[in-house]
Amino acid sequence: MKRVALLGATGSIGRQAIEIVEAHPELELCAAASGSTPLDDIDAPLKEVGGDLTDLLERAQPDVVLNAVVGFAGVHATLWALEQGVDLALANKESLVAAGELALAARERGRGRILPVDSEHSALFQCLEGRGPEQVDTLVLTGSGGPFRGRTRAELEDVTPEQALAHPTWRMGPKITVDSATLANKGLEVIEAHFLFGLDYDRIEVAIQPTSIVHSLVRFRDGAALAHLGYPDMRVPISYALTYPERAATPVPPLDLRTLELQEPDTETFRMLALGREAGEQGGTYPCAYNAANEVAVQAFLDGRIGFLDIAAAVEDVLARVDGAPARDLGELVEADRRARELVAVA
Ligand code: NAD
Ligand code: MG
Repeated sequence: MKRVALLGATGSIGRQAIEIVEAHPELELCAAASGSTPLDDIDAPLKEVGGDLTDLLERAQPDVVLNAVVGFAGVHATLWALEQGVDLALANKESLVAAGELALAARERGRGRILPVDSEHSALFQCLEGRGPEQVDTLVLTGSGGPFRGRTRAELEDVTPEQALAHPTWRMGPKITVDSATLANKGLEVIEAHFLFGLDYDRIEVAIQPTSIVHSLVRFRDGAALAHLGYPDMRVPISYALTYPERAATPVPPLDLRTLELQEPDTETFRMLALGREAGEQGGTYPCAYNAANEVAVQAFLDGRIGFLDIAAAVEDVLARVDGAPARDLGELVEADRRARELVAVA
């Protein structure tokens, strides 16, 4: 029996994870947590609403932590699992983006494993099969381009949260859905891939694939390129991470082949992708600041306080003003996160 601690149990990933756990006799929930939504309908021996996640994990002693919390709030749980050497099924990309160096150091000490749940990174993980950067030429992360693919900046000035929340291929929580519309999600994912797979930024590319059937691909040094294909359905990477190295059955139908189209992303219009790459290349706490400023700006956009294009403008402004010095410990990281949030100039 594998005991799963599910953090972010009431979210889009959390709900789908419960479906996977219930369908698999070898998986059971030992703990469930949410930020503020009640957990009444969830069957787990330990439950926590808005509490301390590492305290919950200490009590639960899980075999695997599925971190499906949204935002920087997931950082403590990510570091806890890596430090303890407990398998980390990671959906909460923000924690790895913000705390990349601290997370790798914790993994080194604890010998924990990261099993990516983000679909692109799950795809890369599967194509790589444990091969190191020396055998790889480039990683290609794919993205649908979001609901505003093909639009100009002028056409984006007045888009509403409702329009940004209408993702063409994935059904997800509101924050990541806005990130998909600004391409911040791809910016975060470039940094996530850098820390997960140890490749420099100039070897991590992004391609637009409107139907979200190609989940990413690896070009190897021998000229072979391996791609991972499937319907856009998060139950597949969730199940893979929870049952790894097994491939358990899921209710997802077999793939019906269709045209696979790949395009270049428009990083002039969707500045968040270029800013993510720049923040990653600058290193230190720039990724943490990029993530923090984005979280605050997305919330301001969803509340109707700023426009869609103001998200990238606000993040760019914060990145120009922070010092980006590396965080030596979690306290300094939390401080860098707080400073960046404070600098976001939104009404
Ligand atoms: P969501 O908004 O649907 O759910 C977020 C969950 O986090 C909720 O259960 C909420 O209660 C919980 N939460 C928020 N703050 C918390 C706190 N302080 N402590 C404990 N729990 C807290 O979000 P989602 O779409 O499920 O995304 C979750 C994470 O997975 C994000 O990092 C996102 O980028 C990533 N992800 C999601 C998808 C997807 O398809 N939804 C795909 C790839 C990656
Ligand atoms: Mg993704």
